[in-house]
Amino acid sequence: MHPFEYSRVADASHALVSGAKPQTKFVAGGTNLIDLMKCEVERPTRLVDINALPLATIEAVKGGIRIGALARMSDVAANPLVRQHAPAISQALLASASPQLRNAASIGGNLMQRTRCPYFRELTWTPCNKRNPGSGCSAIQGDNRMHAILGTSEHCIATHPSDFAVAVAALDGVIALRGPSGERHVAAVDFHLLPGSTPQIEHGLKHDELITSVFIPDASHTRRSSYLKVRDRASYEFALSSAAVGLDIDDHTIRSARIALGGVGTKPWRAHAAESALTAQPPSIDVFRRAAEAEMSKARGYGHNDFKIELAKRTLVRALTDLAGGAA
Ligand SMILES: Cc1cc2nc3c(=O)[nH]c(=O)nc-3n(C[C@H](O)[C@H](O)[C@H](O)COP(=O)(O)OP(=O)(O)OC[C@H]3O[C@@H](n4cnc5c(N)ncnc54)[C@H](O)[C@@H]3O)c2cc1C
Ligand code: SF4
Repeated sequence: MHPFEYSRVADASHALVSGAKPQTKFVAGGTNLIDLMKCEVERPTRLVDINALPLATIEAVKGGIRIGALARMSDVAANPLVRQHAPAISQALLASASPQLRNAASIGGNLMQRTRCPYFRELTWTPCNKRNPGSGCSAIQGDNRMHAILGTSEHCIATHPSDFAVAVAALDGVIALRGPSGERHVAAVDFHLLPGSTPQIEHGLKHDELITSVFIPDASHTRRSSYLKVRDRASYEFALSSAAVGLDIDDHTIRSARIALGGVGTKPWRAHAAESALTAQPPSIDVFRRAAEAEMSKARGYGHNDFKIELAKRTLVRALTDLAGGAA
């Protein structure tokens, strides 16, 4: 591990001044950053510990709930407001990592975690455009079983690893960011970026900005929401495929649907085509399957991960069927 300076800050303005210095990273739970520093993918020369900032509150606010960026994954998952108001958020967090990690890790850090593509994390596999721009992508012709089928480019096919980010994208979450000139808000669906020709640029957060909170608006489809994750092991494993779904059903008709997919996209994948295919339809397996087909029509496999195209459709159909109460 490369040497680095370490400092703790107790207020946001101090954090922003310290964080703006070059080669500086904020550290919260450290469960992703320190890992990447140990394998030398990340080499900050300064770490600013933000854990003392007052950003861990989970509260009801006008129009929804606000979750502080330093709230721990386990606290958010267990919070009664979150469980009642946005069950998909709680379920996505409980399906993530392990209890020990969830106790340590923050939701701000969760949104910012980096891909689990093995070529990205293994320095001896030199070509990786995300780690070393312009060097090539080892996964496209290599072992790509875990990789993305939506939003890929010829430069990178890595999936975004977060479960929480998928649920937040589905439920129209808004991320609050604080920088030197004040606070701004970004829709969660726009926060993470497609790889295009610059896969090293993963999100819209500027170097001198801090995530302060995540807002989840209240809506019928938010209250009736769930998260389904399919993975190689039943726990402690990243998604092969996942679906965060929210449905507002009235008089046997879907009034509104919210869907995002995980484990298959280069970013948390908001499924607008599937949502449109569901709206004003009766909840039935045929309708759910048509919605899944519509969303996956642009999916592309790279060999080992071809199976994900059908798996993602089945994940979505099952998630919708369960949420609709076994509609058939
Ligand atoms: C074995 C293992 C299994 C895992 N399984 C899963 C899984 O199944 N699903 C899943 O979703 N995740 C999984 N994770 C990832 C885990 O959830 C993340 O490591 C964790 O959420 C990161 O949070 P943290 O607070 O530890 O972030 P840190 O490691 O402290 O920081 C991560 C990044 O976020 C930045 N950062 C942190 N807070 C802020 C902030 N407020 N503002 C701006 N930048 C910030 C840091 O600078 C750093 O770049 C797993 C991790 C491990 C090690
Ligand atoms: S998929 Fe992306 S992260 Fe993985 S090797 Fe290719 S460029 Fe690197």
